[in-house]
Amino acid sequence: MAGCSTCDREAVILLKHSGQSFCKRCFARSVEKRVQNTISKYNMFTPTDRIAVAVSGGKDSVSLLHILRKIETSFPKSELLAITIDEGIAGYRDEAVQIAAENCKKLGIEHIVHSFKELYDYDLDDVVEAAEDKGGLSACTYCGVLRRKALNVAAKRVGAEKLATAHTLDDETQTILLNLLQGNVAWLAHMEPVLEGERFVRRVKPLCEVPEAETAFYAFLKKVEFQSSTCPYMRSSTRNDVRAFLNGLETKQPGTKFAIYRSFERIHPSVRALADSIGLKECNVCGEPTAGQTCRACQVLLELGMLNR
Ligand code: SF4
Ligand code: ZN
Ligand code: ZN
Repeated sequence: MAGCSTCDREAVILLKHSGQSFCKRCFARSVEKRVQNTISKYNMFTPTDRIAVAVSGGKDSVSLLHILRKIETSFPKSELLAITIDEGIAGYRDEAVQIAAENCKKLGIEHIVHSFKELYDYDLDDVVEAAEDKGGLSACTYCGVLRRKALNVAAKRVGAEKLATAHTLDDETQTILLNLLQGNVAWLAHMEPVLEGERFVRRVKPLCEVPEAETAFYAFLKKVEFQSSTCPYMRSSTRNDVRAFLNGLETKQPGTKFAIYRSFERIHPSVRALADSIGLKECNVCGEPTAGQTCRACQVLLELGMLNR
């Protein structure tokens, strides 16, 4: 590989979307710089924020924790803590919780763990089984609703002013495409990098302009431990099909994911106007966009008696 684009060292990675090659040190700096730029661009934090980071134990969230820890050292009045939600997925989550705990210990960050079982009296596995005949929605849909609610409860309990999640460029472009494929164009209005809701701790996404492959390489270079096995429910989700499709396109035409994201940024004001015109609201249970009062996933969970308002 050629030399680093910004110093004399040998490059270890070529970012095809930008045409830049980086050595180990400059690559790590470029990721950290991009996160810092995203934080500034969207005014995600104030210097005195108490920030809760949602840490699942996967590569994205542990990388985010390490990057925010680094950035936070320049803001001595801010505080960082980590929250892990154990959804109750047999054979999968225990390892992730352990990895999240070890990362927090290394970084000297307070770590709080809550489980679905403790908050709702059941595991995700129980929900998936009970909902099978009822709604036909994917495990990920229920998981998303319940985890968002659990994270919000946890963030409120610890008095956090911001809740940082590790949604990457890949997650965001997948959601954009999923909403388009499912005819939910107005739903895109609720995809801001900073999300505010009356009943929710403000959610921010500092990795929204970093591709997933780069968070993985960052974790690898920094020798950060993360869970590499994937959730058993992932295979059955439509999101997984969209992920494979986008990755294929990105290989053929580097920069596709950034192009989708930039297009989304440009159409966002019109989408927001459309959402307002059709009266798209926040679900009164989970805060996700819905045309009625309560979203479909919450309706099913309420019917099953598995969710309190
Ligand atoms: Fe939950 Fe789906 Fe992620 Fe598994 S893949 S943890 S079910 S959202
Ligand atoms: Zn370099
Ligand atoms: Zn809902």
